[in-house]
Amino acid sequence: MMVEEKVAADRREYPYFTEEHELFRATIQRFCRDEIAGHAKDWEEAHAYPRELFKKAADLGLFGIRIAPEWGGSEMDWWASAAAYDALRYTDFPSLNIGLMVQADLTIPLIDKLGRADQKREFLKPAVLGDRIAALGISEPECGSDVAAMRTWAREVGDELAISGQKLWITNGAIADFIVLAARTSKSRHRGISLILFPTDVKGFSVGGRIGKVGHVASDTAHLFFDDCRIPKRYLLGRRNRGFYYLMEHLQGERLATSLLVLSFMDRSLELAIEYGKQRMVFGRHVLDNQVWRHKLAEHRTSVEAARWLVYRALDLVNRGRPAVEEVTMAKLFTSDLAQRVAYDCMQIFGGFGYTTEYPIGRIWRDLRLYTIGAGTSEIMKEILMPPSERRARRRDTPRR
Ligand SMILES: Cc1cc2nc3c(=O)[nH]c(=O)nc-3n(C[C@H](O)[C@H](O)[C@H](O)COP(=O)(O)OP(=O)(O)OC[C@H]3O[C@@H](n4cnc5c(N)ncnc54)[C@H](O)[C@@H]3O)c2cc1C
Repeated sequence: MMVEEKVAADRREYPYFTEEHELFRATIQRFCRDEIAGHAKDWEEAHAYPRELFKKAADLGLFGIRIAPEWGGSEMDWWASAAAYDALRYTDFPSLNIGLMVQADLTIPLIDKLGRADQKREFLKPAVLGDRIAALGISEPECGSDVAAMRTWAREVGDELAISGQKLWITNGAIADFIVLAARTSKSRHRGISLILFPTDVKGFSVGGRIGKVGHVASDTAHLFFDDCRIPKRYLLGRRNRGFYYLMEHLQGERLATSLLVLSFMDRSLELAIEYGKQRMVFGRHVLDNQVWRHKLAEHRTSVEAARWLVYRALDLVNRGRPAVEEVTMAKLFTSDLAQRVAYDCMQIFGGFGYTTEYPIGRIWRDLRLYTIGAGTSEIMKEILMPPSERRARRRDTPRR
């Protein structure tokens, strides 16, 4: 039995996954192996991946996992999402996965939760079906962790909203057909932000030049400009000036999805390292015949298993609609931090080959670096878990991203 088959078989031992989840996992796994894994290097070199992949992923049900059939979804649960993320590691291509994650778990759930029927018809269903690509626009050049500091304004002008400002680091930003956009609608710091469904074919909207990144090279990460863009007021998503609070709640789903993705790529790193270490000969024996490596990987497998239970505990609470801010925050903090050490050591086993683009391990190591930064930095996770004293917190007008 191949290492990865063994790991997949072990996973089925978890009590939460049903036959339906397993079928879904197997379908996504096949898609990743057959249609993506072999192309990752070429797409990285081209700094892009094909837009059609969104449609293919949608046809397999990746974007409608927890969405009602009325809007094109299959109405499964968070365990189905866990099965999907677990399978997505076989892309060997974190760049691709972040774009799919933005569609599946950063934008679609917000519209599903807050949208009116007409908004769901226009934005949700086409996104679930992969006909429209979505992005989430929160961060700006001057505001990342401190979401309430955003400066992009959406001013009411008659029946329209006039939007001016900038967004930075927006995944899928250049290819998006629409953006779930956070913008200021009043001067109040936290009570002055609204969410807006922003179609990108509007006059005054433009995309800046490509951002040169250390990793996630093929992923579209954009700098967006809004110069008096006019859109109908009916594109306001949810209640006016409630956007900050919607985002804070929604970020739990984003962080849970991120934890699942990171967990999945830690598993992949271990699979790749074990496979390589079993065949590469050094000084007349396999690399893994050196006890130092067997012990190192044993420690990492143990830590990743502990991380899995932390993530699954958070997921179980979210899945049952229970409060889970602490658990989700811990899961995001722990997995993203652990991933740095796991991927580093797994790459080390490959020696010089690990440092080339021929093997996926280098790409995974490099791309996992993002996750102590994106979806809320590790420092912010710690601030959520251990906030300053109440008196200071009031003075500083928390919360933060
Ligand atoms: C590849 C990529 C994709 C992204 N995709 C998106 C996207 O799709 N949509 C989107 O809206 N954003 C996106 N982001 C932005 C991301 O969410 C932000 O980069 C992140 O929230 C951090 O914000 P910042 O970069 O402005 O850092 P800052 O907020 O300026 O923080 C700088 C440093 O200060 C630390 N810090 C901040 N506050 C504290 C504190 N109280 N105590 C101690 N340390 C602190 C931070 O942890 C960090 O180390 C993406 C970023 C990247 C790199």
